Amino acid sequence: MELYIHIPFCARKCLYCDFLSGSASLEVQEKYLKALRQEIRWRGESVREEKGEETVSSVYIGGGTPTVIDPEGICRVMETVKESFCPNADAEISMEANPGTLTAEKLKLYRQAGVNRLSIGLQSADDEELARLGRIHTWADFIASYRLAREAGFDNINIDLMSSLPGQTTASYEGTLRRVTELLPEHISAYSLIVEEGTPFYNKYSGYPELLPDEEEDRRMYAMTEEILGAAGYHRYEISNYAKPGRECRHNVGYWRRVPYLGLGLGASSFYGDKRFANTADMSRYLDVTLVGGADGTENLQKLQGTAEVVGRQDAMEEFMFLGLRLTAGIRAEDFAACFGQDLEEVYGDTLARLTGEGLLRRTEAGYRLSHRGIDISNRVLAEFLL
Ligand code: SF4
Repeated sequence: MELYIHIPFCARKCLYCDFLSGSASLEVQEKYLKALRQEIRWRGESVREEKGEETVSSVYIGGGTPTVIDPEGICRVMETVKESFCPNADAEISMEANPGTLTAEKLKLYRQAGVNRLSIGLQSADDEELARLGRIHTWADFIASYRLAREAGFDNINIDLMSSLPGQTTASYEGTLRRVTELLPEHISAYSLIVEEGTPFYNKYSGYPELLPDEEEDRRMYAMTEEILGAAGYHRYEISNYAKPGRECRHNVGYWRRVPYLGLGLGASSFYGDKRFANTADMSRYLDVTLVGGADGTENLQKLQGTAEVVGRQDAMEEFMFLGLRLTAGIRAEDFAACFGQDLEEVYGDTLARLTGEGLLRRTEAGYRLSHRGIDISNRVLAEFLL
């Protein structure tokens, strides 16, 4: 199984961001860490009661910006994880970080806590683009943070990038890709900006597409990503993720392969025991239940999470297909049969034949994968697997 731990705090809200995150006083941060550790203990007990000792293959500390809080807090959270669960000796322990929030001292503590992979949110190497996004850092801040991380011994680093940003040109995006690949990170994630409702960007840009790169430019940036990263030795293993060989993010691959995970913390969602559920996104309620709730952990966990949705057989098959096909290695017929006791062709034969005929899927030795063209219009192709 895998664990996701949510730290919902940021120095300041970026203008495009609709994640569950925001700034908070040190007092709230302290309370939250205490509450989170309580939840981790309860979840650990509940897993032991249900399944005995179950090993953890990856832990992902995300947010928000985990690196804005007291680093000792991260150490305490990781201690509680180790006391409450059984992480494998070689578990991948990733943490998200933002440039401008890292110091040598913090990085040393993260290493001591067992963090062995950093995911740094750069987004762009152009300072004007960063300012328009409302990011708190510049390219120079990022370089300083990246160097500190390398000096602290982090040898597995992801850099997050975004394209189709306001004011971005193909030339400036190319500059970002080239500057980033020169640094030789092990992993690069590259997503297009989505203007989400409820963000300042939505008010500013929705209804004004002329203020953003047009579709043709967006497509050029998209193609450029694969071209430049491919030439620099990164292989695309998922629609938006690139890695040096063997450096794929184990946690995310687990998600696409439907490995069970528990989400811990405010609003965190879980897929465990064939159920999907999510913790409350209301901070007062989260703190109330965890810090002043009754002594019965199981009852408190019930209060924290909403109604669990049982993933029925049909939903599970659909998820298997549209999550698994996001990976460029595709899905294996043998895994489908092992999971559902039914032949892949029997369930999806017509869809697979049609999409293969249209050149959107390719047959592999073990099953199917998206073709290059299929990746380009993946949303449309993946929707075809809804039963
Ligand atoms: S740092 Fe990340 S989580 Fe925080 S506001 Fe910016 S985009 Fe959102």
